[in-house]
Amino acid sequence: MKIVLEHLTKKFPSRNKKSRGEVIAVNDFSFEIPDGRLIGLLGPSGCGKSTTLNLICGLQKPTGGKIFFGEDDVTDLPPEHRGVGLVFQNYALYPHLTVKQNITFPLENLRGAEKLTKAEMERRAYDAARLVQLEELMDRRPGELSGGQQQRVAIARALVKTPRVLLLDEPLSNLDARLRLQTREEIRRIQKQTQITTIFVTHDQDEAMSISDLIVVMKEGVVQQIGMPQEVYDNPVNLFVAKFLGTPPINVFRGTVRDGMLYIGKDAVLAVKGAADQEVFAGIRPEGFLLQEDGPLHCALNRIEVMGRDISVVSSHECCEAPAVRSIINAENIVDTSSKTVRFAVRPHKLFLFRKETGERIPFTVE
Ligand code: ADP
Ligand code: MG
Repeated sequence: MKIVLEHLTKKFPSRNKKSRGEVIAVNDFSFEIPDGRLIGLLGPSGCGKSTTLNLICGLQKPTGGKIFFGEDDVTDLPPEHRGVGLVFQNYALYPHLTVKQNITFPLENLRGAEKLTKAEMERRAYDAARLVQLEELMDRRPGELSGGQQQRVAIARALVKTPRVLLLDEPLSNLDARLRLQTREEIRRIQKQTQITTIFVTHDQDEAMSISDLIVVMKEGVVQQIGMPQEVYDNPVNLFVAKFLGTPPINVFRGTVRDGMLYIGKDAVLAVKGAADQEVFAGIRPEGFLLQEDGPLHCALNRIEVMGRDISVVSSHECCEAPAVRSIINAENIVDTSSKTVRFAVRPHKLFLFRKETGERIPFTVE
């Protein structure tokens, strides 16, 4: 089921008593979520991710705009008629019910033509449980399960009514690191198997990048960029998106473009044809540095961190926004750790220029 959001907007009265006015939690969203895909909705806390999900599932009413499921306008449809499965961060299971009873719970309330027999409910519950690999645990209670298993119960419960759309709001936040990895792969597998259009909300870029077909990056209620994870990483539209994606994060330098040359401090780092003379922010991805004896970028060498396949060279530069410049270099390189400086050349496609005032990307070509 494809989902179309048209100028979707949600305003709240401000909670802050001193400053009146309103919070625009979702600001003029327009985009189409293709059928059968997993979309990662990504942004920092408070940027409007949960509000967007709540609007899509009908728990909140938009201030403006429309929501379509396929060709159906569902904007005024109550949540129970939208065919949406929901999973939250805090699994919200009934502690006194067994796993099986928790999963069948949404089916118990079906009335009229939709009403199911006990046997049919049981069959559906086992189908959903099989999908999340819980069949063995059907008679346990939530308290007897690990966090990861509880979240799988919540996912099975969301799937049991075979929803048209699955919405997951930070579903992995309560899990420890190892379970988080495992469960996100599980979610990916389930989504591929069921082909249900899924929106996965997270503030963790690594999580969103690893499992999404498309990511939507949000900031303060406004969509910044939509695209395939690699595409957005390789071609961020602005400084915010560039900084939000990638670990270690992109290194941001204050720089100047003069006569087609990017200067970082005194260093003439790269010819950037087509960029007008101006002060800029230059972002260089950690993998964008090349160790080079006569390289143009001079940094003060702090230390080397061995990471196995790669080494991380930690240095500093007076024009860098952060105290450390982090570069990732192939471990076959030898770094002279007795030296006080380290010199780099830069891979042109790993360097981005942004306007100083707006953070907007400045295009350039490389000779
Ligand atoms: P996220 O899920 O990305 O952390 P939310 O969608 O929860 O963000 O919130 C977006 C913004 O809307 C925040 O500034 C939040 O304080 C505000 N907000 C959310 N829900 C309400 C509400 N019911 N009343 C007033 N403000 C709200
Ligand atoms: Mg939220």
